Amino acid sequence: MDKVTEWCIRNIWGRDNFGWRYIPSQGRSGGLILIWDDITLNVEDELIGEHSISIKFSNRFDNFNWVFTNGYSPNEVTGRLNFWKELDKVKAWWQGAWCIAADFNAIRDETERNKPGGNKRNRKMLNAFLNRNALLDLPLAGGNFTWSDMKEDPLLCRLDRFLISTEWETKYPRVTQMLRTRTISDHNPILLNANGISRVADAFGNNDEWDLNFMRDLNGEEVNDAAELYNLLEQIPSLNDEDDQRKCRFVCGNKFSSKLCYEKLIGGEETNFEERLIWKKTIPSKVSIHFWACFHNSIPTLDILSHRGISIVNRCWMCKETSEDINHLFLHCRYAKVIWGYFIESIGVSWVHGRTLQESMEAWRLSGGSHFRRKIWDLLPYAIVWALWLERNARAFNSKENSSMDIILQVKSFIFLWGLKENVFQGIRFDELVYRWDSVMCA
Ligand SMILES: [Zn+2]
Repeated sequence: MDKVTEWCIRNIWGRDNFGWRYIPSQGRSGGLILIWDDITLNVEDELIGEHSISIKFSNRFDNFNWVFTNGYSPNEVTGRLNFWKELDKVKAWWQGAWCIAADFNAIRDETERNKPGGNKRNRKMLNAFLNRNALLDLPLAGGNFTWSDMKEDPLLCRLDRFLISTEWETKYPRVTQMLRTRTISDHNPILLNANGISRVADAFGNNDEWDLNFMRDLNGEEVNDAAELYNLLEQIPSLNDEDDQRKCRFVCGNKFSSKLCYEKLIGGEETNFEERLIWKKTIPSKVSIHFWACFHNSIPTLDILSHRGISIVNRCWMCKETSEDINHLFLHCRYAKVIWGYFIESIGVSWVHGRTLQESMEAWRLSGGSHFRRKIWDLLPYAIVWALWLERNARAFNSKENSSMDIILQVKSFIFLWGLKENVFQGIRFDELVYRWDSVMCA
């Protein structure tokens, strides 16, 4: 990899419309190439270090901003230290959604090595890096190790991995990491499937058949589920090398639009209650996605992280009194109760939350009252949950604590902003809403 030319890259990539960066190798290792699809990704900024390439991308189709880092940790001590410093710099430089793929040249614990031994210091540095940057280490599907010393009785380790930030995970909650077959290198390739970025064909190889290997024998109920799954898969045309295409079942041809989608959701009888609860015209899509993730228990609260084997002390970031889960954070935490209480009281109703966020949302309805108050009532839970989530992240990642009054102000500003789309606030100014909330509500 001393001399990488555009011609080489085109051969690796196999298509036009790509962008690329590279760092030449030193001896037999250390070279890095990063290639991306130019049609999907737009480069906003970049940092090329000694041991890593980082690009800040924005997705062309949804403007989501994120940073991808490709890195290689050298084996010698000074190089290693520089490698960790370089990655910390990337984090400090951009923050936000981050996805790293690297040969870290270190394992996290003894399960990532088939023989005893290994460097404890490197292990500590990798774990410390994960913890201080709050990165998620996804399980590796398809095997335990990514590297072999290629000897007869080989030493096997998991040196390579993808790490992602919680923001990245929130955007791609169904992300998986999968080991692929080793070819010419002593490392296995790893496929990160964000479900929407990769092609399905990549995840299943070239076979036309579905081959599901379960880790243990299935019980009666699971056998039924598996049969149903096979049945579903049978209906899917066999995989080929063509790019996957999106098709929408209620649109003729390929002319999908979010307007059609929305109309279908609002008007269609088949749509379920949950969908209608989440996808509202006035609510920004990132908030809708957040609710979707909450209902599917996939926002990265501490209880979910600890289920995934990430060792963090599970304490609510707000009250620091009990463990953090979705229903505590958004409903039952004493901080959350203050915020809900303020707004519910101002509208003049008595309200008792359900056990779960979803239960509460399903019951959330104001019968009677003016059109104006009903509109505010509709927007409230979205604004409160979103403001609490932002506050929780400010505390978790920026060590910044805002008061309840600040959070209440934030909720009001969301409601004002979102309400504008529906002309909810005709004749009411933002400062009136903020400082005279009670009298505006009573009017
Ligand atoms: Zn709490």
